[in-house]
Amino acid sequence: MSMQEALEDCEVLIVGAGPAGTVAAALLAQAGHRVGIIERDRFPRFQIGESLLPRCMDHLAAANLLPALEARGYARKHGAWFLRGDERSGFDFAEQFSGGYDYTWQVPRDDFDLTLAEAVMARGVPIAWEHQLEHFRPASGPGEAPELSVRHGDRIQLLRPRWVLDASGYGRVLARSLDLCRPVAAPPRRALFTHTRGDQRECGRNAGRIWACIHPDQAWIWVIPFADGRTSVGMVAEPDFFQAYPDDPAQAWQAIVASEPNLRRRLAGCQPLFPPRSLADYSATVSRLHGPGYTLLGNAAEFLDPIFSSGVTLALESARLASESLQRQLKGETVDWDASFERPIRQAVDVFRSYVQAWYDGRFQRLIFAEDSDPAIRRMLCSVLAGHVDDKRNPFVAQHRRKLDQLLRVLSAPRSL
Ligand SMILES: Cc1cc2nc3c(=O)[nH]c(=O)nc-3n(C[C@H](O)[C@H](O)[C@H](O)COP(=O)(O)OP(=O)(O)OC[C@H]3O[C@@H](n4cnc5c(N)ncnc54)[C@H](O)[C@@H]3O)c2cc1C
Repeated sequence: MSMQEALEDCEVLIVGAGPAGTVAAALLAQAGHRVGIIERDRFPRFQIGESLLPRCMDHLAAANLLPALEARGYARKHGAWFLRGDERSGFDFAEQFSGGYDYTWQVPRDDFDLTLAEAVMARGVPIAWEHQLEHFRPASGPGEAPELSVRHGDRIQLLRPRWVLDASGYGRVLARSLDLCRPVAAPPRRALFTHTRGDQRECGRNAGRIWACIHPDQAWIWVIPFADGRTSVGMVAEPDFFQAYPDDPAQAWQAIVASEPNLRRRLAGCQPLFPPRSLADYSATVSRLHGPGYTLLGNAAEFLDPIFSSGVTLALESARLASESLQRQLKGETVDWDASFERPIRQAVDVFRSYVQAWYDGRFQRLIFAEDSDPAIRRMLCSVLAGHVDDKRNPFVAQHRRKLDQLLRVLSAPRSL
């Protein structure tokens, strides 16, 4: 069968072969549905979003994708360090309230996304590389099919699958074409990042931990160690922060590293392996996550902020919930997409949003650097950091806003980032 015929044969068409797209494809194919993916690029390609959370492992296991990933030997991430000058606050995923996986991985996304794509292709899911969604029309009524036009070089193909999952990430093709994009409340921020090699790492269980290093001038820096000796280092701040540094991205990156003692020690002598890239205004949201014949997954719908590495976790959460609802829909059941998909995803995003806000206004730091911080509370926070934002038994999930404020009332005066 040609690729054109394979796409025409699909009940479900997925736009984008990032983690949201491939995990949704794996789950639907596993349930016996004819599903295909169109992907604008050809893999491997660079992508940001390299630090996973343990909750991802549940979704990758459900899609039977863990064995293919295990074989890649990624660095095991057992937790996180938050650093502020001489202060250090560590979280080990073995100590989380919700239980579950006590580790996850730090993944170079070129390799991770290609591994997922190859695993789903091996199960018979066609991936049409360098095929770009250009236009989309939602289903005109119950039982009708959505329509999309797909460009491959000079050729345009019209497709009418039963359902479309938009997993186009920052492409956000359906949200843009259906006018679903909405402004976010957070101030615009910028990230400057590259890979380097030769950093001074801890040994043993802590070797793969992520660092979130707080810079005194209202910025933070991630340090993500990979198994092959490379390390991802990226700075996040409001645009003004970068004005104090050279215009040249490599010089700016090096000057920022040199300006913070923890980074200076860990990254002594490290050079950027490629000119640092910059991303700005990446936070996004939409007015709705589904409509007639379509559902938005992962970043194609919403992206909060890189601070707690929630992006891939939420992308997989949405892939899993959407594929469960879609399986029922394809069997002919009436599905309440608001109840089964939109509300749980919005709730999960909201929990992370509270912690992202608390990070940038300094409340989260007050909690984690407090000298008398209660171990039971740290276990609950650790669960949030592990991505278990659907665990309503955890008061720091169920009453996220109230609990954060309640706790802070008993702590000392604010100290913002
Ligand atoms: C600075 C920064 C740091 C981050 N760090 C982390 C982190 O440490 N951990 C984490 O979990 N998340 C992180 N994220 C978020 C992470 O990048 C995303 O949440 C994640 O990649 C979302 O996955 P996805 O599958 O939804 O989309 P993507 O990974 O973006 O995949 C979408 C795919 O769709 C394809 N596509 C786009 N348009 C079209 C089209 N028209 N037709 C066909 N295909 C198309 C693209 O080529 C792409 O391959 C970070 C984000 C930023 C901005």
